[in-house]
Amino acid sequence: MSKTFSDLGLKQPINDALIDLGYENPTLIQEKAIPQILSSDEDLKAFAQTGTGKTAAFSLPIVELANENDKNTQAIILSPTRELAVQIGKNIEDFSKYIPNLKVTTVYGGANIEQQIRQLKKGVQIVVGTPGRTVDLIRRKALKLSNTKWLVLDEADEMLNMGFKDELDQVLEATPDTKQTLLFSATFPREVEAIAKNYMHNPVEITSGQKNQGSDNVTHEFYQVTEKTRYAALKRIADVNPNIYAIVFCRTRRETQEIADKLIQDGYNADSLHGDLSQAQRDAVMDKFRKKNIQMLVATDVAARGLDVNNLTHVINHKLPDQIENYNHRSGRTGRAGNKGVSIALVNRKEKGKLHPIERTLKKKFIKTAIPTGKEICEIQLFHLIDKIHKSEVNTSEIDSFLPSIYEKLNDFSREELIQKFVSLEFNSFLSYYENAPDLNNISSRDREGGSSGRSSRENMTRFFINLGRKDKLNPPKLMGLINEQGINKNVEIGAIDILDTFSFFEIDREFESFTLEAFESNSPEFNGRRVNIEITKERKDRKRSRRRGGHSSNKGGFGRVRNQNNSSSDRRRNNNRGRKPRR
Ligand code: AMP
Repeated sequence: MSKTFSDLGLKQPINDALIDLGYENPTLIQEKAIPQILSSDEDLKAFAQTGTGKTAAFSLPIVELANENDKNTQAIILSPTRELAVQIGKNIEDFSKYIPNLKVTTVYGGANIEQQIRQLKKGVQIVVGTPGRTVDLIRRKALKLSNTKWLVLDEADEMLNMGFKDELDQVLEATPDTKQTLLFSATFPREVEAIAKNYMHNPVEITSGQKNQGSDNVTHEFYQVTEKTRYAALKRIADVNPNIYAIVFCRTRRETQEIADKLIQDGYNADSLHGDLSQAQRDAVMDKFRKKNIQMLVATDVAARGLDVNNLTHVINHKLPDQIENYNHRSGRTGRAGNKGVSIALVNRKEKGKLHPIERTLKKKFIKTAIPTGKEICEIQLFHLIDKIHKSEVNTSEIDSFLPSIYEKLNDFSREELIQKFVSLEFNSFLSYYENAPDLNNISSRDREGGSSGRSSRENMTRFFINLGRKDKLNPPKLMGLINEQGINKNVEIGAIDILDTFSFFEIDREFESFTLEAFESNSPEFNGRRVNIEITKERKDRKRSRRRGGHSSNKGGFGRVRNQNNSSSDRRRNNNRGRKPRR
């Protein structure tokens, strides 16, 4: 029979609090760590991924053992991000709700330090903090750690990844030798082992799962893409999974914003999370994501750290991280709390080699998966729609009064015709978007990275109109020079150029469509004394519109989801004057 929390030796007020939280049985790491910490003051090294219940594993014994009548700080818990620290602080408040004199305070940067000092002055037994702010408070003598009994380093690998080595050293130095150090980490690279070696005394080791190994609940897939098909592949993955609830990981803030912008423009329910956003903006995005108002959160590794979401269907590596450990962290965001999840890597030929070392640490193989074809997507979306019709509730009282005239109007149609019409209404534009969509798995040599011939298939190019022509002494080299001067990207591919008398056309790699428009708009260049204007040609605009109306926005509107109405990314960027202006 599985153990209960009271079997682990926790007192009644804590058990009552756990019942309120709906925790019935301890997780594996809790079963191992709680009795160990309760019964011994030996240091502890625990291998635990996020999602395994590690917060309760170290917090519950501290809540059990801390002396509520002693107002000194007895436990200091360090965590890499504000979000995670807040989450831990909140968990501890929940665990100790029936122990009235036991107080916890969370301290982190970017918030009013005076207020945190006031809190500390009241006397708190448990302090949760980010490394930087904790050191700051120690220096100001507002946080006194001389009576510390427990030091917890949570996500130690991540704290070191984020460059907090000096801060960790300083906190470790500020605590007495007699303390018990509890180090929790999903991975144990050399730097974490060094901390353990230098600051811990013969630590006991416990694991939940294998060291550095991914969760059993996660399947790892890779899709082979080129730079031209990467974004299209991402969209197809979203389209073939109508109920997707995913984090899309990017390596840089810029890549994050760019991908989120494109997804939003294309009608997906997406938003971005990265370090350029203010704390309030990040909180707002995370809140929306937790409430599933956002289905795809495009994020950097660091920004997504503190996000505690248990039921992600997918983690998508738009680009693989530089460090293998980070792949582990990313994929560990799904397959949590007993759920199944899929971690997807989009890799080009060069990046494919990075999969092997990851496979070695995961002890699992990536499954090569074909990018879904338009036909597959249409089929899945169609049945998703039928399924939704099946499940939708009819509110007769609301529509009763309209029904007689509706029946009369539709009287001429047979049952089959009606079904056909309803399905077509919802589905036609989706079908037309994917009607001639290419098979992205057939990568021609021309499209291979580094092997481009300079001209690409029209599908990947956007055709622009420009208000200059031969009469303005424009020729192809000059036009190319003009484009390059806008600082779009030195690798941007320029396709066909047609110079006519008073205007011209040029093609640009679709990936850089928005950049091109925005660069021309913000630079306002002149050519031979004329103000230059560019526009996307009608053909491309129509394609976009038809997709918005039917294709992907159907995904939200027609298929029951609300099209992303928060516009939060665009609003944020406008208000911040930070990024690029959103296009209407
Ligand atoms: P953590 O790994 O600490 O981030 O926990 C992951 C999630 O599991 C959190 O949402 C916890 O609230 C939840 N959790 C932790 N322990 C238990 C438990 N024993 N029973 C049910 N849920 C739990």
